[in-house]
Amino acid sequence: MEIAVFSATPYDRRYLEAANADGHHQLKFFDTPLSIESAGLAAGCRAICIFVNDNADAAALDVLKRNGTGLVALRCTGFNNIDLDAAARLGIRVVRVVTYSPNSVAEHAVALLMAINRKIHRAYNRTRDSNFSLDGLIGFDLAGKTVAVVGTGKIGQVFARIMLGFGCEVIGHDPQHSPEFEAMGAHYAEPGEIGEKADVVSLHCPLTPSTYHIINAQTLARAKPGALLINTSRGGLIDTEAVIDALKSGQLGGLAIDVYEQEADLFFRDLSGTVIADDVIQRLISFPNVIVTGHQAFLTNEALTTICETTLRSVTAFERNETLENEIRAS
Ligand code: NAD
Repeated sequence: MEIAVFSATPYDRRYLEAANADGHHQLKFFDTPLSIESAGLAAGCRAICIFVNDNADAAALDVLKRNGTGLVALRCTGFNNIDLDAAARLGIRVVRVVTYSPNSVAEHAVALLMAINRKIHRAYNRTRDSNFSLDGLIGFDLAGKTVAVVGTGKIGQVFARIMLGFGCEVIGHDPQHSPEFEAMGAHYAEPGEIGEKADVVSLHCPLTPSTYHIINAQTLARAKPGALLINTSRGGLIDTEAVIDALKSGQLGGLAIDVYEQEADLFFRDLSGTVIADDVIQRLISFPNVIVTGHQAFLTNEALTTICETTLRSVTAFERNETLENEIRAS
């Protein structure tokens, strides 16, 4: 089947071509993200493949449908960037990669936590300049501290297990309580207890209308002074302006993010020769106690292999009119 692959990076091409080694599908790669303007590129392709910052809104889906597309395959877990109601109305089916490597994202969250707490980013820059001073590099022991996991699904549970291994007390918040989470020695807590006790808060819930700006001025005011906030989930979970205020006042001790609300205009591109118009991200990057990675938490060999193999398996199932195991529908 002909598949139009949007937002195709060099590694997308490499891993998708490896997953398609038998040449069963015809892959058409486009660097450009999906939008209403670019949707026409997929003309004649029964399937398209998109990533986190492609915009599969009703208008783009309408163009795709008119040009013969019947399947949108998301090569990611989150699906906040597709209008599922519009897809259902147009008869376009949607699949995602439900799980690939929760370890990849959880381990990146741990890397961010370790780096922001022990100031590895600052030490790295200093020693490259032969500055071996330790001033301003004091962190805290994680052992014995309280770590809050917001969203105790697949990734949150791996993160929780690693934190328990560090000797932390792990508390969680999730409308769906998981017996596995409790069995590993963690327990559930209400937002009030999280604010009171957590030295670290790590976000692992999806972006939905109910989780939009779940971290805001009110929740930050209730947080333990100096707490660290880690977000590897979705940028929209955080009200960035409120977080900047909390960093300025010292209420928040540090922030490490792999996702950013306005990342669609920035991430996955080399903008090093460009004047960045987004003053909010520029302000964030200027803080010594902020680390930003560009949505790379999933970027491991194991995860990419599984993502590409699962995506092409879904397209083959669609082509053969078989059950789509990873289908998502409007609720
Ligand atoms: P999952 O579905 O296994 O777990 C998500 C959990 O969040 C569920 O248990 C759900 O009940 C919970 N949740 C829903 N609403 C909540 C709320 N209001 N408060 C607290 N918890 C709530 O998903 P997962 O595989 O663990 O992935 C989690 C998120 O990680 C994804 O939605 C995606 O946004 C993000 N992600 C990021 C990357 C990356 O590269 N940075 C890669 C993959 C996934």
